[in-house]
Amino acid sequence: MKACVFTLGCKVNEVESASFLSALEARGYEVTDTLCPADLYILNTCAVTAEAEKKSRQAIARIKKYNPRARIVVCGCAAQNHPEAFSGKEGVGLVTGAMHKRGVLDHLGETGVFLEEEASFCELPAPKQTKTRAFVRIQDGCNRFCSYCLIPYLRGRTRSRAADAVVREAEGLPAREIVLTGIDITSYRDGENGLGELLLRLKHLPARIRLGSLEEGIVTREFLEKMRAAGNVCEQFHLSLQSGSDAVLKKMNRRYTRAQYLEACALIYEYFPDAAITTDIIVGFPTETEEDFLASLSIIEEAGLARVHAFPYSRREGTNAAKLPDSSASVKKERMGRMLAAAQAAEERYLARFLGRTLTALFEEEGGYTQNYIRVYADGAREGGMYEVRLLSREKDGCRAEIIREIQEEI
Ligand code: SF4
Repeated sequence: MKACVFTLGCKVNEVESASFLSALEARGYEVTDTLCPADLYILNTCAVTAEAEKKSRQAIARIKKYNPRARIVVCGCAAQNHPEAFSGKEGVGLVTGAMHKRGVLDHLGETGVFLEEEASFCELPAPKQTKTRAFVRIQDGCNRFCSYCLIPYLRGRTRSRAADAVVREAEGLPAREIVLTGIDITSYRDGENGLGELLLRLKHLPARIRLGSLEEGIVTREFLEKMRAAGNVCEQFHLSLQSGSDAVLKKMNRRYTRAQYLEACALIYEYFPDAAITTDIIVGFPTETEEDFLASLSIIEEAGLARVHAFPYSRREGTNAAKLPDSSASVKKERMGRMLAAAQAAEERYLARFLGRTLTALFEEEGGYTQNYIRVYADGAREGGMYEVRLLSREKDGCRAEIIREIQEEI
């Protein structure tokens, strides 16, 4: 195994990097301080000037050219100043600052083996679960650093639970629906395997699987094919959007454009025409203009969204967005009114498509949910029962339905 410690900036960085080189050598690595093909890279960054920060960021791309599958640890002043510029980049396993460089070596472990993220996933005792719906944690933390969000600072970097542990817990559950949860399950990794492979490992369960909130980047043909091959995954995608305006998305540090989000939705519908794509939208983000807001309104219909959770922007001290001038309360209130009306219209359009159709629903104490997350109410349905139901009419937050037959053990 070869390790490269690449250093930008001052003498202090150089000395610290020399320590990394000796520590890596002691752990059995062949080491170098020159950028070249390697298995592991430690990038010791500099922020003395804007140019130095830029070079630090560009070093990631240079590393990827040498080894696209490289594992990368980023430390130093540029990482301290703008951790979000490095976190979430493929291959980056740890971003630490200028003050916690010991953490770099801790991350490598005593044996010199780069600790897999799941090794630091905090296992907790299995929670008490109902026979209807159970929640299984598969991931924690987040590397995305959306500019309005404190979660990455509070929960730390992403780490995944070992697939074996997820499967073991899921196999022991009596529930007929298992929801895979985490802060950012899109980033789920177990070695080379991601969320798609995890779904394939859960395909034998006598339960349907529902996914928690997803990011646009996961929507690829490869992932959707795995999801289809699994056969027991609910056709509901909570695909976080936040804004339909490219200008606002950029300020939010969301790493996709409106066009990319729309492409992801179109691809989902290609594989799962009945899918419910649900989302979150923030209204009144700092600098959001009327034009930006109209882009958020129009994408709802354009993307064919089934349900929208809209929230007025709430300033979180300590985030980058908190440094931007906030929208006024009256602007937020007025836009929220229009957004809620658009969200209601989207839900009506989606539900109308299924009136008269037969779907599978799992019932809870009051009402149930179809696999594409339509709330249904039916006479005679018992809690924990799975039924084929025909949707008859709109009712409350969903539809009135009639039971066609009970489904015993199949999904
Ligand atoms: S909004 Fe979600 S994806 Fe973005 S930083 Fe917060 S937890 Fe991560």
